[in-house]
Amino acid sequence: MKAVQKRLVVLGGGESGVGAAILGKVRGYDVFLSDSGTIAPRFRSQLESEGIAYEHEGHTPELILNADEAVKSPGIPPTAPIVRQLMEKGVPVISEIELAGRYTDSKMVCITGSNGKTTTTMLIYHILRSAGIDAGLAGNVGKSLALQVARDPHQVYVVELSSFQLENMYDFKANVAVMLNITPDHLDRYEYHMQNYVNAKFRIIQNMTHQDAFVFWQDDPVIRRQLERVETEARLIPFAETEEENTKAYIDAENELVINAENQPLVMPRADLALNGLHNLYNAMAAGLSATLLHVKNDDIRRALSDFEGVEHRLEYVDTVDSVRWINDSKATNVNSCWYALESMPESCSTVLILGGKDKGNDYSEILPLVQRKVKTIVAMGLHNEKIEEFFGSHVPVVSTHSLADAVDAARKAASEGDTVLLSPCCASFDLFNSYEERGTLFKQAVKSLKQV
Ligand code: ADP
Repeated sequence: MKAVQKRLVVLGGGESGVGAAILGKVRGYDVFLSDSGTIAPRFRSQLESEGIAYEHEGHTPELILNADEAVKSPGIPPTAPIVRQLMEKGVPVISEIELAGRYTDSKMVCITGSNGKTTTTMLIYHILRSAGIDAGLAGNVGKSLALQVARDPHQVYVVELSSFQLENMYDFKANVAVMLNITPDHLDRYEYHMQNYVNAKFRIIQNMTHQDAFVFWQDDPVIRRQLERVETEARLIPFAETEEENTKAYIDAENELVINAENQPLVMPRADLALNGLHNLYNAMAAGLSATLLHVKNDDIRRALSDFEGVEHRLEYVDTVDSVRWINDSKATNVNSCWYALESMPESCSTVLILGGKDKGNDYSEILPLVQRKVKTIVAMGLHNEKIEEFFGSHVPVVSTHSLADAVDAARKAASEGDTVLLSPCCASFDLFNSYEERGTLFKQAVKSLKQV
């Protein structure tokens, strides 16, 4: 008797949704994809050439609610009416990563945290590839995991996982899970309950066994507290700036990075690390530990940590114009990432900080001491600058602007020789731009054009 074909409905027609749909098709599901918005032409033609039925610019409930299982793209909130209806009908709603995980036995290195995910993911990927390991890059970066599992399998996957992706993961298991830090972010999506966000992040360790490893920042108070509450069989692999009990990566008295989780310890001068700043030290520790746990040779790790070229829009040096350094940190979409950017700036008040955008319920008090020590002027860039003006106005001069061109102009006027202009907005970009990438790219163009004036 022929088995009844199961119906898989995929919500969302972006990278992860289309990947899930293709994997579903390859695995014999009756697949239907639905997107309430417009699907980009390249994804539409991919669906068409794969012969996958889809709709966009609206959901047809009759074609969706008859699913046996649904894959939800991470951008769709769990409160979306169609998701609610599926759940009310008892249809399991999973993430693309969960689906992909069912069809591969490859090793999974998964990275989460409020900040530093992409940098650390790219760094781990760089170490593995330069050591000759067949690694794939997935999650929020690169091609979807589902598509790679379906069409271009790899031995190891380095997967960046946001809390949104983790929300719908149940049986998936990471072999190495990395948790960089947990600070308030996206609280609008978690009913303003930090614990809900923490719980979503900690799903990264579910199902791990004693053969798996959990790499985490030992000094993060939120991670520490949560670890006291949850149970895990995974080996605990903490890292910290200085050596504490059980720390597996730290800086020693000679200012050397020590990574000591497996076999021979790796020791290298901190000055040889390609990326600067305390936050990048943590990222390097997490990446180095992950690679060690995958048995990459120390020489390969050392070399890759020192020749990594960094990731665009993350503390990215743009240019020096009239002896002023310009830095693009457009990806700093929350207060904590801006804290780390400021932390890496010189002490004297020589930084002009461009701040602003769509506020996600920011509490700026975290960066106030650094702003007072390091920032000479704040240039607010957004549709609504009132909160920034009110908060910082009595501490540093604040110039209010409503466009990128005006912000760059104001920053140029405020900066003098030897200063740094830092775009590290603490906010999402959606008031004036389509994405943080667009904001960063336009910023870089504007800086370059200063040279031609
Ligand atoms: P994510 O993918 O988690 O958003 P990114 O690597 O894209 O992280 O970096 C986002 C922002 O956070 C950048 O502004 C970067 O300078 C800053 N950042 C990077 N690593 C860390 C870290 N470990 N802790 C805090 N901030 C960080």
